[in-house]
Amino acid sequence: MTFASLGLIEPLVRTLITLGYETPTPIQLQAIPAVLQGGDLLAAAQTGTGKTAGFALPLLQRLSQEGAKTASNCVRALVLVPTRELAEQLLHSFTAYGELLPLRSYAVYGGVAINPQMMALRKGTDVLIATPGRLLDLYRQNAVKFSQLQVLVLDEADRMLDLGFADELQQLFMTLPKRRQTLLFSATFSATIRSLADELLHDPLQIDI
Ligand code: AMP
Repeated sequence: MTFASLGLIEPLVRTLITLGYETPTPIQLQAIPAVLQGGDLLAAAQTGTGKTAGFALPLLQRLSQEGAKTASNCVRALVLVPTRELAEQLLHSFTAYGELLPLRSYAVYGGVAINPQMMALRKGTDVLIATPGRLLDLYRQNAVKFSQLQVLVLDEADRMLDLGFADELQQLFMTLPKRRQTLLFSATFSATIRSLADELLHDPLQIDI
């Protein structure tokens, strides 16, 4: 199997060659076609499995194929993460994978000044990577709008709950459009994660790597 045979467009395939990715990993084999088709996903996967490219590549492709312009302060895909470190790491991956596509990715997290983030969000963001607390602050200050949101990703959902983000997550979910694609990644599956999955996902493809 090649990345092209999974349905990825030429600019992404070319970028992967530059990055030295030769063949898709098992999670990429399952996730890429499913996400390209617009379905929901529930995946049990640790880091090191290639899960980031498994959701980032098809997500970037969907956004680029739509070609819709992202309005001021709007976000078309939202990736929620537990920590600033993971936010920075995902921004780096999205920027690398999306190198040949005309899309803008950006990351927001707490512990740094909010004003530069508010300014940066003004021009509209195709992929926003965010920790829940700071994102809620930005939303309450009207710096971010979800009217154009099409894809929600929860990465390391179990760590987000462990870090006490359950309330913030629920408050955020209330503000998101109901019609959207949702992808949930978690290393472990507690009863709480399962009920979160029941609440957020519609008929998801389940992947257990
Ligand atoms: P992740 O599990 O998403 O944190 O990815 C683990 C590491 O594997 C990262 O350094 C990626 O750049 C790399 N990687 C992901 N997919 C592939 C692939 N298909 N071929 C080679 N390296 C990959």
